[in-house]
Formats: sequence, structure tokens, C-alpha cells
Amino acid sequence: MQGFADETYIEVSSGRGGDGHISFRREKYVPKGGPDGGDGGKGGDVVFVVKENLKTLVHLRKKRIFKAENGENGKKARKHGKNGLDAVIEVPPGTLIKDSETDKILADMVNTGQSYKIASGGSGGNGNWHYKSSIKQTPRYAQPGKPGQEFRLHIELNIIADIGFVGLPNAGKSSLLRRLTNANPEVAAYAFTTKIPNLGVLRLGDTDIVLADIPGIIEGASEGAGMGIKFLKHISRTRALIFMVDLSDEKYLEAFDILLNEVKNFSEDLFMKKRIILGTKTDLEGTKEHLKELEAKYPGEKIIGISTFAEDGLKDLIREMTVLSA
Ligand code: GDP
Ligand code: MG
Repeated sequence: MQGFADETYIEVSSGRGGDGHISFRREKYVPKGGPDGGDGGKGGDVVFVVKENLKTLVHLRKKRIFKAENGENGKKARKHGKNGLDAVIEVPPGTLIKDSETDKILADMVNTGQSYKIASGGSGGNGNWHYKSSIKQTPRYAQPGKPGQEFRLHIELNIIADIGFVGLPNAGKSSLLRRLTNANPEVAAYAFTTKIPNLGVLRLGDTDIVLADIPGIIEGASEGAGMGIKFLKHISRTRALIFMVDLSDEKYLEAFDILLNEVKNFSEDLFMKKRIILGTKTDLEGTKEHLKELEAKYPGEKIIGISTFAEDGLKDLIREMTVLSA
């Protein structure tokens, strides 16, 4: 299945166990009480958890090192040290976790809620009260905590775009993607590892919407003209398509037919996807009239006019994208 490869390398380490404590009871009339050093707490684990709404590995690129907490050392009066907190790493469904050296697959994170413990925290050491015996009344020994584990991991994901932009060259696809991604600091447009169309991630609250900017389709693309057709396969699994029509271009009334025809020739599946038409560059003269003509020509289609430059219609568009990607 086609998608966009995303990958990153991270380091994880579980927490060290806390050391056992060495101490002796002190009571008023007992000068030398028995040993009462408590046990160390367990170190935290490192756990991967699948989170449904995540779509990319962007968050793992920002932070590459994940450490669980160490366990606390034991205390006097047989008090346990606290256990260290786990490091929980959220990943999108479809994430592969591999050993970075051997590239062996350690876990395939498929289902929402699935979890995988990659590194166990070290156990805490016994306090000295464990070591009392008839011949050893005052053990001056406690067990040290066990070390945690460390791993270097190769994380891989096949990203599936939610919405693909389809348009003739110069329709304004790249500009819109850039605009939407710049508008939100949580969003990332970044170069992926394969030579593929641009992806942008629009983060709306808890949900990512992955947008794919497909390099221009030209007429005849499905018969092999231009670059377009090669890229159409990248959007085979999107949920919806946005057809972008430059309202300032002389082809504004034909562009949609051309595009739809290319898409249909490529695959019936793509043709059947949810879609809207986006009339672009409404800041330019005459475009409002062109938009009306477009609406009149395609009464069955959902059509929105936007200008990336003038920020016209972008809120409506984002609302519609939420619907399309659901
Ligand atoms: P793409 O080929 O579909 O990716 O289109 P681009 O995003 O590269 O844009 C093509 C041209 O249209 C560029 O010169 C952009 O500056 C221009 N453009 C993009 N959006 C707008 C817009 O909202 N208004 C106007 N006036 N020009 C735009
Ligand atoms: Mg472009």
C-alpha cells in the first residue's frame, strides 16, 4: 500500500532501581536496635502506547531522548523508596519499532490502545533489615538498586494522508499548504525521507489532519504525461480530495473536468472519494464572478472560494477539512 515514509531515531532508558538503605533502630533504652533500612523503589519502565489521533512522528523528532525516572533509595524505619515514573511514548497506529543497529522489528504497533514495554526499570535493592541473622545482628550491608536498560531505536511509520490536494500547476496548492502549516505553530511541514509530495500536518486540538500536496496533474497525466500520475498513487488511501481551481486562470471552467477525468482514469476508487472544489485566488479581480459561474456549472459539488494571500475563506475550509477527514 502506498503512503509516505517517515522515520526517526530515538534513545530510551528505563530507570535505575533505588538502593537499599542501611540504618539501625534507635529506641530510648535500646542503644543498639536492629537493622531497619528500607528497600529501594523500582525504576520506571519505558512503554510505547498507540494513540489513535496521532498521524506522524513529528513529536519524536522534537524530543529524541526518553528517560524513565529512577527509583528512590530506601529510608530508615523500613520505608520503601518511591518507584520511578514510567516514560510513556505515544505513537500513531502503524508504527514499527526496530532495533537501530540490526533493524530487527521489535514491535508492530497496530491497534489503538496497544502498548509495548521496551525497557524494564531496575528493581530496587533490599534494605539492610533483610540481612539480619542469628550470627549477624548488625548487617552493614544493603543491596544496591539494579541498573535500567538502554536502547537505541529506529522508529518507522507509513503515513497515510487524510486529504490530497489535486490541481493543475499554479493552482495554489503549495502556497495553501504552507499557509495552513505556518498558521499553526503545532503544525509541521517537513521533508520526508523519500522523494514524495509535500505533506503538511494540521493539528486541530487533539486531532492531526495530514494534507498532501500532489505536484500538478496536467491533462493526459493518466496516460503518462508529466509527473502527476506517479504521484496520484500516493493519495490512493486518502479519505478525501480537494480539487483546486485557479479562478484567475482562463481554464477556470474546465479545470475541474480535466482533473476529475485524470483522477477517474487513474482509479475508480479515487474518483469515488469524498471531495470538494476549492476556487483559489479570490483576491484577484473577476474571481468572485468566476466562482459563481463555477457554482452554477456544478450544482452537485461542494465549492468554497479562498484566497491564501488575503486569508479569505480559510476558516470555512478548515471546518470542511475536519468533516472530510473524519
Ligand atoms: P501550485 O503549483 O499549485 O503548488 O501553486 P503555488 O502554490 O506554487 O502557486 C502558484 C502561483 O500562484 C504562485 O505565484 C503563488 O504566489 C500564486 N498564489 C498562490 N496563492 C495565491 C492567492 O491566494 N492569491 C494570489 N493572488 N496568488 C496566489
Ligand atoms: Mg506546487
